[in-house]
Formats: sequence, structure tokens, C-alpha cells
Amino acid sequence: MQLGLIGYYSDFVVYPLVIALLGVAGLIEAGEESAPEWIGTVLLCLGLWTLIEYVLHRFVLHHIPWIKDLHDRHHVEERSPVGTPTWLSLGVHALIGLAVWLVFGFAAASAVSCGLMLGYLWYISVHHMIHHWHPSHPSYLYTLKRRHAVHHHVDDTANFGVTSIVWDRVFGTARL
Ligand SMILES: [Zn+2]
Ligand SMILES: [Zn+2]
Repeated sequence: MQLGLIGYYSDFVVYPLVIALLGVAGLIEAGEESAPEWIGTVLLCLGLWTLIEYVLHRFVLHHIPWIKDLHDRHHVEERSPVGTPTWLSLGVHALIGLAVWLVFGFAAASAVSCGLMLGYLWYISVHHMIHHWHPSHPSYLYTLKRRHAVHHHVDDTANFGVTSIVWDRVFGTARL
């Protein structure tokens, strides 16, 4: 939805703080012996985020009524602060975290939430950079910017991954 500038940028303050606090609390809870397992879970969920990002963009942002209208607006007005408010995305992360907590305990829940939130933070950061920055060519960011521009302006049935091209390759929606 249309956000004010404070609303738009608050993700970049709130998420690093929540991730850091949850990371410290989770590692303390996991203890020294389980720390490698905890870190492994974070990395696994970070990878899982790239698939969630693809599925959300392809099937939710482009197909669910109302959400689709807002996303269509982003496709046209790519630099205006249209996005998901922090309270909403953080609320969804909290629900997932609570569900994992109830079943597997706090250490596992904090690792899952840290991984998914790191992935989300990386996604909104990359998405911001590719719309507002002018990365030099050749670079990782330049490639992502060009692929996302193809999705915005040439073919909106391709290149749903923003931070990664892996899932577009897997599901046959990659377009160079
Ligand atoms: Zn975009
Ligand atoms: Zn799109």
C-alpha cells in the first residue's frame, strides 16, 4: 500500500534490530553445543526465503485481488513508496515464529524467524537498490536490476525472483 517515507524506511531500522535481538536470545537459549545447528537452521531458512519470495511474487502479488492492484501500481510508479507496512510483514513473521515456538521450542523458532527475516530484509534492500541505485556494469546488482526491469516493463510473466534467479530457472519463468 501507499506508505509515507517513515513507513517506507522503517523496515530498514526495525528488522535489523529485531533480528539482532532475536539472534542473541536464540543463541543463548540454544547454548554452545547447539549453536552450529542453530546457525544451520538460519541459513536453511534464508535459502527457503528465496522460494517464498518467488511464490509470493508470482501467485500473490500478481493474482490476489486488491494486492494485485497495488502491485500493478508499483510496476508503473516504480519509485513511489508503495510497499508492505512493517506492522503487517512483522505480524506475519511473528505468527510463523509463534507456531514454530509452540511445536519445536524457542531456540528453533528464533532460528527460523532470524533466517526468514534476514531473507526478507535482503529482499526489500535489493528491491530498493535496483529501483533507486545505478549499479555499474557488470555487477551482481546490475544483473538483478536488468532482470527486474524486464519483469516490470517487458514481460510480467517472467523473472519473479528479485534476489535470485534460481527459482525462475527451476520453474521455467526466466527471461534474459
Ligand atoms: Zn519492482
Ligand atoms: Zn511483479
